[in-house]
Amino acid sequence: MSETEASSAVSEDTTKYVEEGKNKLIVKCKFCGSKILEKKTATYISQEKELPLMQQDVNRKEGEIQKEMIKGYFHVENMYTFENIGFTHQVDTYKYLTCADCDAGPVGYFETDSKHSYVALSRVVQC
Ligand SMILES: [Zn+2]
Repeated sequence: MSETEASSAVSEDTTKYVEEGKNKLIVKCKFCGSKILEKKTATYISQEKELPLMQQDVNRKEGEIQKEMIKGYFHVENMYTFENIGFTHQVDTYKYLTCADCDAGPVGYFETDSKHSYVALSRVVQC
């Protein structure tokens, strides 16, 4: 663990968001409300994975990318399932997912090998 790692976990009680293993509600951007996923189009998985912070500290060391551990993702097998989504440039075998409208992100990541996408529950709103 480095000093820059923080933790952001979604409550273990996922029944508010998950029904029959799928996202119960519409998934939207926290900042502009753009619709990212329609109801019941993604599968909930409780995996833990690090993502870069949406807002990097201006006082961080040069070249450093601050990350946090996030638990709880919606797995999307086919990128065409998304209503709206943007992709960053490739980092290793990943691209990060961003809001197509306001560029907020990363809201998740895309695996370039499997072409599967993972949206972090704590980085989006559901309603
Ligand atoms: Zn947005």
